[in-house]
Amino acid sequence: MSQSNLRIDRIHEGTVIDHIDAGYALTILNLTGLDESPNLMTIGVNVSSKKYGKKDIIKIENVFLDKVQMQMISILSPNATISLIENDSVIKKESVNLPNIIKKLIACKTKTCISNSQKEPIDTEFIVLEEKPLKIQCVFCDRIYKLDEINFKSRRKKRKKIRQRILL
Ligand SMILES: [Zn+2]
Repeated sequence: MSQSNLRIDRIHEGTVIDHIDAGYALTILNLTGLDESPNLMTIGVNVSSKKYGKKDIIKIENVFLDKVQMQMISILSPNATISLIENDSVIKKESVNLPNIIKKLIACKTKTCISNSQKEPIDTEFIVLEEKPLKIQCVFCDRIYKLDEINFKSRRKKRKKIRQRILL
């Protein structure tokens, strides 16, 4: 990346999600609802990375993530780092943290699973068996899921066009 590119991509205030597993930036934007943000976003897909070969990166102006969004990112890309930018400088940088148990975020597909009971709705709960590649297990019916089998309990699901600029 040239110096001029760096300057354009630098954000004054907002969030940088870096070291996203290559190919997951758009999924993350969609699931976290960030794709509905009207704010300026820069998305890099398949950016070369010294550490991981290839990675994705997302920069969003004037947006800060909440805990649920951070947890979704930790499930999709356990190596991701989140930097908070204020006045052109990084004031906080942290790695996402995949919990041992994931609550509420993911739906179980087993119809007879108690978490799908209509009478007494129970929050879903999944134990993380393996972090990468991800393997989780429903605590109620023991069904095991891999990353591409997971159904997130998505918030508002409006499909909107993402204003994006791909860095290559
Ligand atoms: Zn279940």
